Amino acid sequence: MSLRSTLDFLLYQWLDAEALNQRPRFLDHSRETFDAVLDTCERIAREKYAPFNRLVDTQEPHFDGHKVILPQATHDAQKAYAESGMLSAAQDFEQGGMQLPYTIEAAANAFFAMASVSIGSGMLSTGNANLLMAHGTPLQKGVFARNEFSGRFSGTMCLSEPQAGSSLSDVATRALPDGEGFAQDPLGARYRLRGNKMWISAGDHELTENIIHLVLAKIPGPDGQLPVGTRGISLFIVPKKLVNTAGALTGERNDVALAGLNHKLGWRGTVNTLLNFGEGKYPVCSTGGLDGKGAGAVGYLVGQPGEGLRCMFHMMNEARIGVGIAGTMLGLAGYEASLDYAKSRPQGRPAGPAGKDASQPQVPIIEHADVKRMLLAQKSYCEGALALALYCARLVDEQHSGTPEAADEARLLLEVLTPIAKSWPSEWCLEANSLAIQVHGGYGYTRDFPVEQYWRDNRLNMIHEGTHGIQAMDLLGRKVLMEGGRGLALLAGRIQATAAQAQKRPEWAAHAAALTAAWQQITDATRAAWATGKPGDALANAVPYLQAFGHTVLAWIWLDVALTPHGLDDAKSIAANIGRTRATAYFYHYELPKIGAWLQVVTNRDQTCADMPTDAF
Ligand SMILES: Cc1cc2nc3c(=O)[nH]c(=O)nc-3n(C[C@H](O)[C@H](O)[C@H](O)COP(=O)(O)OP(=O)(O)OC[C@H]3O[C@@H](n4cnc5c(N)ncnc54)[C@H](O)[C@@H]3O)c2cc1C
Repeated sequence: MSLRSTLDFLLYQWLDAEALNQRPRFLDHSRETFDAVLDTCERIAREKYAPFNRLVDTQEPHFDGHKVILPQATHDAQKAYAESGMLSAAQDFEQGGMQLPYTIEAAANAFFAMASVSIGSGMLSTGNANLLMAHGTPLQKGVFARNEFSGRFSGTMCLSEPQAGSSLSDVATRALPDGEGFAQDPLGARYRLRGNKMWISAGDHELTENIIHLVLAKIPGPDGQLPVGTRGISLFIVPKKLVNTAGALTGERNDVALAGLNHKLGWRGTVNTLLNFGEGKYPVCSTGGLDGKGAGAVGYLVGQPGEGLRCMFHMMNEARIGVGIAGTMLGLAGYEASLDYAKSRPQGRPAGPAGKDASQPQVPIIEHADVKRMLLAQKSYCEGALALALYCARLVDEQHSGTPEAADEARLLLEVLTPIAKSWPSEWCLEANSLAIQVHGGYGYTRDFPVEQYWRDNRLNMIHEGTHGIQAMDLLGRKVLMEGGRGLALLAGRIQATAAQAQKRPEWAAHAAALTAAWQQITDATRAAWATGKPGDALANAVPYLQAFGHTVLAWIWLDVALTPHGLDDAKSIAANIGRTRATAYFYHYELPKIGAWLQVVTNRDQTCADMPTDAF
């Protein structure tokens, strides 16, 4: 089944995306306009992204002493993406946007992630500009966000520092008011920043006229000390090149210096940088500077001091669903490649007495049960993850355009489901990539086939946007408890509704019972984990909990998808329906039973790992 037909089924048959067109915000849209966006993105991805996926892996970004050099293909892909209008897909028509539901935007972006996940860094610019649209002043929107939406500027997110990755409360970049008139700058209260930002994706390049860094930094108190904790973090716009209030470059460079490039395992199409802010390499003399010599990177405050993380988190759900989709699409790319390979690679004979008879013709490896197992595992992980991502995207639309009650429910469901939407594909679609290599045998371990690159590219997703461990602690330590467990109860209601529907159909009744039992196990384990009320007891096994929770959510998603009538009776639709039914059966027979082992250590508050003495390793 092609990606497009899978998306069409999930969007229109399962999620009823067309119903969104009844909402005032989306009234101008129709199935035709949605399809036009999907068609355009599918074509650009096919023409400008897919052919260059290997090239951007082998021709890593490099610094020639003056500039970061990226392949021409990256420039072309970036230009085509900007021209498609996708950078401002969600924005109002008056802002030059498409006013597109996020469900359709997420589905359309899936084509790019599958064709070449790292060649374009559009998601960062969109996230950056969307954040400014939510929290910036009118001039910040006009000068910075509008130019990012058009593709003239690009954006970054500068959170991490060498000593502050998972623990953002330890951010040490300092921001000091820039002279007496600092608060009157029309672009926002003006500060000078000093500090180092590590791992900054798309942090330096020549793809666009300017780069707009969104930087987390702390404003010292009257005693000169940095405020402690995350509440002291503020957010600043730090352009690489200074601009005037009309958005034109002033000709002066800001004090942001490239300290080095990181040489990565994968995702090499996107340059990754260590940036030094305010070290004095590019003094900005027009406003004086901290030492009178122009040192300090000029930054304009976004929102209120101390609200930096709150502003950043505004975009987190969509950013995390985006990471989940990236992991998913890399998984699907490996699935497609290994499926093609398995159909064409003759090796061995069917098991049984004739199996070793060399006079018999060999069979394609897809005939072997174990190869089918590996393919079904990939299909169930990746198509299941895609369905979950689109379900979450639909909740984002519900949150922004539904009735107040529906919006509130969607918000809370997203709180609980987002750690899963980000982490589950990162782990299991990576496992899918490993299986895709296995299906290829020795050939999969070479660079002559694309699957090793998919695995390397995918390995990032468990690390960025909150590591696996941090997401797990967020789920068990915060999300399932928040608002008195209301989010968990809402999810339980949705899972029970699917199980009840399945229970009425004899062919699905066993799955319905397994899903109900699995959810009961999750509920019991959640309670047992917190029985002593001590975070140390509960969170020691947060990752096994995340795994079991994720598998249960995916079992629910698969059953819900499988229950959806496919409507059409042509051969392709019938085959696709059988495929979904079998993938669901695979998930219930081979995957869901794993949760027992994961939940056992959670329920027992097992301290084997937590109590291991450091010097005994
Ligand atoms: C290719 C790439 C691109 C990136 N792009 C960006 C970007 O554009 N902007 C940006 O700001 N950042 C970016 N990052 C940074 C990324 O978000 C961080 O790497 C990530 O947050 C983890 O931080 P760290 O690397 O310092 O690891 P650490 O925080 O040191 O974590 C190391 C390990 O310890 C675990 N750990 C840490 N703290 C705890 C705890 N309290 N309890 C249990 N376990 C814990 C983690 O789960 C992890 O397994 C990028 C990273 C990479 C690799």
